[in-house]
Amino acid sequence: MKPSRFSYLAADSVDNAIDMMRENGEDARYIAGGQSLVPMMNFRVAAPTALIDLNGVPELSKTQDGPNGQLQIGAMTRTRRLETDPSIAKKNPLLSAAAAHIAHFQIRNRGTLGGSIAHADPAAELPGIALVCEADIHLRGPRGPRIVTAADFFKGVFTTAADNRELIEKICFPHWPPQRRWAFKEISRREGDFALVGIAAWFDINDAGTISGCAIGAIGAGDTPMRLRRAENILRGSVPSIDLFREAADAVTADIDPLDDIHASGEYRCEVAAVLVKRTLTEAWECSQ
Ligand code: FAD
Repeated sequence: MKPSRFSYLAADSVDNAIDMMRENGEDARYIAGGQSLVPMMNFRVAAPTALIDLNGVPELSKTQDGPNGQLQIGAMTRTRRLETDPSIAKKNPLLSAAAAHIAHFQIRNRGTLGGSIAHADPAAELPGIALVCEADIHLRGPRGPRIVTAADFFKGVFTTAADNRELIEKICFPHWPPQRRWAFKEISRREGDFALVGIAAWFDINDAGTISGCAIGAIGAGDTPMRLRRAENILRGSVPSIDLFREAADAVTADIDPLDDIHASGEYRCEVAAVLVKRTLTEAWECSQ
């Protein structure tokens, strides 16, 4: 199918894009890489009356250091850059590793960090990484700027705390200590497919050898990316060991609520999530000793 009729507007600055949104009303949409929006338009799942193209807005592609070692990544940064830019990998290796699992390189060449966060697919990698890294989402709209934590941003399937007219400017990831242990794992039917389930985890170890801080997140396990709080509580304050990771994995099912769909049953996803938590924590531990 072909999309319904729409007008096309090319913005050259954030202010210009927001003005265009104000003038074109509720049914206008921003377009970034187009890798989710265009297929949705072709299937007529989305029928925006106007597309406001962000590709000509240079300020949205900037990556810079923020206060306290923060990594600030512009919304129009391509997925492929997240995967391949060594300066991003150094400042957040988990983000880089997860980006490599997204679709195929042609899609990663076009798709953007901001587009994936705004689209909020519960099986998408980048929203899951934003959540597990406790990133902040910087929004700007006709009523001005605001910052929403990733924990408050994802509200449901394809639903976020941003209103239609708000633009994501950048995503800010907190400082990543160089000694942090981390890993990302997912299971999909074929390479390049969306994950059936994916797990991202990191933990820090203090001088006493116990886990001082940690986060474990799941994608494909509910209506939004999710934090696995019970498993995190088991890790915090304990000495890392395979038995501890097994105990954390056993607690996962109570925190997630995956649905059945044509790709896998909810029951299967629960089992996979538990296995992946154990594997992810083990890899994080063994690869960095
Ligand atoms: P677009 O498609 O341009 O926009 C998506 C939505 O976000 C639209 O509603 C748009 O209005 C809004 N938007 C975009 N930018 C902004 C902004 N700065 N501020 C506010 N709103 C904005 N994704 C995965 O995570 N994992 C996968 O395995 C995966 N596999 C894929 C396989 C295929 C075959 C395809 C076609 C896509 C796949 N994707 C996958 C989706 C891909 O990663 C998309 O690139 C991503 O979801 C959206 O990014 P985009 O820049 O293309 O956004």
